[in-house]
Amino acid sequence: MSREQSNCVRIEEIHKLTAPGSGPQKSQNDWAYLASSLLLAILTASMWAQVAAPSGEVETVFSQARALYVDVHQNPELSGHEMQTAGKLASRLRALGYEVTEHVGGSGIVALLKNGPGPTVMLRTELDALPVEEKTGLPYASKMRTKDDAGRDVPVMHACGHDLHMASLMGTATIMANTKSAWHGTLMLIGQPAEETITGAKKMIDDGLFTRFPKPDVAVALHTSNELPAGKVGIASGYRYANADSVRITIYGKGGHGSAPHTTVDPIVIAARTILALQTITSREVKPGEAAVVTVGYVQAGTKNNIIPDQAELGLTVRSYKPEIRKQVLAAISRITKAEAQAAGAQREPLIEHYEATDAVYNEPALAQRLKPVLESALGKDNVAVAEPIMGSEDFSYFIAQGVPSFFFGLGGANPQKYAQAKAAGENLPSNHSSLFAPDLDPALRTGIAAEVAVLRNLLSGSAEELRKSAQQQSSY
Ligand SMILES: [Zn+2]
Ligand SMILES: [Zn+2]
Repeated sequence: MSREQSNCVRIEEIHKLTAPGSGPQKSQNDWAYLASSLLLAILTASMWAQVAAPSGEVETVFSQARALYVDVHQNPELSGHEMQTAGKLASRLRALGYEVTEHVGGSGIVALLKNGPGPTVMLRTELDALPVEEKTGLPYASKMRTKDDAGRDVPVMHACGHDLHMASLMGTATIMANTKSAWHGTLMLIGQPAEETITGAKKMIDDGLFTRFPKPDVAVALHTSNELPAGKVGIASGYRYANADSVRITIYGKGGHGSAPHTTVDPIVIAARTILALQTITSREVKPGEAAVVTVGYVQAGTKNNIIPDQAELGLTVRSYKPEIRKQVLAAISRITKAEAQAAGAQREPLIEHYEATDAVYNEPALAQRLKPVLESALGKDNVAVAEPIMGSEDFSYFIAQGVPSFFFGLGGANPQKYAQAKAAGENLPSNHSSLFAPDLDPALRTGIAAEVAVLRNLLSGSAEELRKSAQQQSSY
């Protein structure tokens, strides 16, 4: 609500700016106001100029890319069901001269543009949306509903910005196809399904992504968020996203009457002790300064207040960057869980199931170093920031695990004014997956296209050997 209010204020201010003398009298304050408004206008214009700096070329494709964004945003599809979305990309890419293969790992697409000898560079976009009800109030807000895999009626929204990634990729694809003299090698664009369920990348690989098609020398992707204002990109050297492990623990006790605890082994008490003991892993066992998270996201046990149940279940998400820390934390979870059950006299050892896992996304430092000045010259030095690693996860890591060096960068999505206001107030703008998540479309899309084109042209400028060598100079993955 506070954001809506601030919007109203801004509109009034703009109105005043266009009609400075419309008040009853032109006082000194009016002139001061006019001067400050003009300054604001100049600042805004210069910010716009910075955002639009690479725009000559970007403008030629912008309206089409924007139209695709609006179309895809209004017609989102859930993970694993992105058939129409993939079809929209496939037909457009085919019309541009790309060799397009559909249905790779489900609804995935692969589009190749061969342009003489040179490296192969892959650029990925995701295709999927989320079961979220859009509340942005935007004129092009999604009203879509569908059935999820469990048959429930759910709303659908591009609440993670994958629509922006698709529109950027299409704008980039168009520029690259129209300017083949500015690069050489093979450009490989992929539309990956089911990123949100961490299954799509693996399915594409299992369906021959790197055997039926050329294996890239470098893989590139971007992700938008409100971490940065639109117009900027963020580069992380080294870890960008975390290892994510899902663990389900079933604690077996011995049920009975709530009034006769001495005849039971209470699994709820064991679960409570276990949850607290698990918190000592990051605070007492992992070396200070190393990153790790152990979150117990759910506890399920019992049906009635006077019944001690037979068992309790815990659901955990475990995050880390380094492989050795991941191993240490998972081992500690297992050790503590078993020991707590034993301490309570449980007859049966807890069941510990490790049912989902994704590796960290690690950016080759050599690539980050090589591409920083490239992005600075394309977007302006002030528009290239350092991105902090975050504990989120991404299945782009599956491509990296195949031995493909990665450059995964952040794309600013926040409206610059709202971003500044939020910073000043110590508040956070809605994060990805929020029903209010809405990138500041025009500057973010312009920047996404300009950044991708600059990165691809740089990577597709020398020989495959040179790129492979430069991408692995400092590899420590
Ligand atoms: Zn997401
Ligand atoms: Zn996402």
